[in-house]
Amino acid sequence: MRIGFGYDVHALAEGLDLVLGGVKVPSEVGCVAHSDGDVAIHALCDALLGAVALGDIGKLFPDTDMAYKGIDSTILLRRVVDRLAEEGYQIGNVDITIALQAPKLRPHIDTMRTRLAEVMGIEVDCVSVKATTTEKLGFEGRREGVSAYAVALVERTK
Ligand code: MG
Repeated sequence: MRIGFGYDVHALAEGLDLVLGGVKVPSEVGCVAHSDGDVAIHALCDALLGAVALGDIGKLFPDTDMAYKGIDSTILLRRVVDRLAEEGYQIGNVDITIALQAPKLRPHIDTMRTRLAEVMGIEVDCVSVKATTTEKLGFEGRREGVSAYAVALVERTK
């Protein structure tokens, strides 16, 4: 078994989509990004890649590459899972925390878990998604940005 950790941040701006954990969340602000700006998936990808010491999401999918412009981050996550499988690893469980002042994410958490489990091809009870505000402190609290943290456990299959 191996463990990995990931962290990601995106700035927020008005009039953009807010996509978190593969789910479009109704919001006045969304992520400024080269891809769809799904910080939860980006942190998760880095945790998975970190577990197997395969680098990070920026190395695999450079933001200078127009192929990834506006890309649905679930496609990136699927590619990471496939890459891990090539190395002989399957996912044990993952745990994600999203820090965002508003909107409240609670109503969307289970939809995110279901979507992420589907993309990774694992059971939903192996996917945890949590959300927190930062009590109006820092860039998340000022609603300037959103951050996400993730850990992942992977297991060797061969
Ligand atoms: Mg990112």
